[in-house]
Amino acid sequence: MIQMNDLALQYKRLKSDIDKRIDNVLNHGRFIMGPEVHELEEKLAKYAGVKYAITCSSGTDALLLALMAWGIGHGDAVFTTPFTFISTSEVITLLGATPVFVDIDERTYNIDPELLEEAIRKTLNEGKLTPKAVIPVDLFGLPADYESIEKTTSKYNIKVLEDAAQSFGSRYKEKRGGSFGDAGCTSFFPAKPLGCYGDGGAILTNDTILSDKLKSLRVHGKGSNKYDNVRTGINGRLDTIQAAILLGKLSVFDEEIRLRNGIAKEYSNELKDIVTVPEIPKNYESAWAQYSVLAKSTEQREMFINHLEDKGIKTAIYYQKPLHLQEVYKKLGYGIGDFCIAEDISKRIFSLPMYPYLSKDKLQYIINTLKTIKEL
Ligand SMILES: *Cc1c(COP(=O)(O)O)cnc(C)c1O
Repeated sequence: MIQMNDLALQYKRLKSDIDKRIDNVLNHGRFIMGPEVHELEEKLAKYAGVKYAITCSSGTDALLLALMAWGIGHGDAVFTTPFTFISTSEVITLLGATPVFVDIDERTYNIDPELLEEAIRKTLNEGKLTPKAVIPVDLFGLPADYESIEKTTSKYNIKVLEDAAQSFGSRYKEKRGGSFGDAGCTSFFPAKPLGCYGDGGAILTNDTILSDKLKSLRVHGKGSNKYDNVRTGINGRLDTIQAAILLGKLSVFDEEIRLRNGIAKEYSNELKDIVTVPEIPKNYESAWAQYSVLAKSTEQREMFINHLEDKGIKTAIYYQKPLHLQEVYKKLGYGIGDFCIAEDISKRIFSLPMYPYLSKDKLQYIINTLKTIKEL
């Protein structure tokens, strides 16, 4: 079976380095906020081209901590896309604020900046909620259109929190994924482009006040130490062992992003007449967390997926059900037809195996398998 991802192959390559780094941590014993955490934060900030990287317990907690630092809560509107993982909106509702969904661009699957402006105006006119922030998601690794988004948000004085859980390693012009907006949040969940061997995340920002607040919030709202508590926080640190693993992986990360881009290019060249392949707009480079294509219909997607499965090739669907149709958000009052593009895409999209060490043979086998389906 060809899996969606193969972390064992990566470990094989990095084994001696990663084992040594873990062994170091076991020997120095500073499992919480050890030296590797600080080293990693410096390297992440440098990589992303920002002043500060604040590591934390997961991508979800990164988003949560940023919203907490901005004091977002009851009565506030936070705009985001319905075509993302639940974390993006979960953190909004967890804090008592209200997610206001905005449909996506049909080519990039990222939030549509024009519709964002409409949604902000509508929310202001209704007068029930105060627009406070937008969380654009860099879906599948492709950064959202931050130039257009920030033109709008600057007019209304709204914060931009980049959900870069899938896009660490991506680019737009000279800027790296995670460095857009007022702060960017990424995830080190094992399957993400830069993943550890458990849960982890980071917030990236140039804002000194925000960075200081985040460092307090992730350790129980500490003041001068953790027994001096100045605000309500959480236990949201990254483990030293995970930081050590990430340091090992970061050393080959650029090469892995190049490999992912090579695989994506090959897929797109070969499959463009069979399915709708991802469109990467000018000046963008994706981190290719997923390589996702569109079938013509749900039925055709089922046919593709079943045939690939029969031939030993795994696929996945991100995301089957847009967030506005999830049971958890019933009380927000959305229904079918509210976000037509997200709904349509969710019915037709599926993802193919994507990882830096996918061999040429396997890649060719996947491509050939899809090509022969067309001829059936
Ligand atoms: C994975 C993911 C998250 C959450 O990251 P965790 O580390 O699993 O908490 C948030 N947003 C998006 C878009 C993701 O893909």
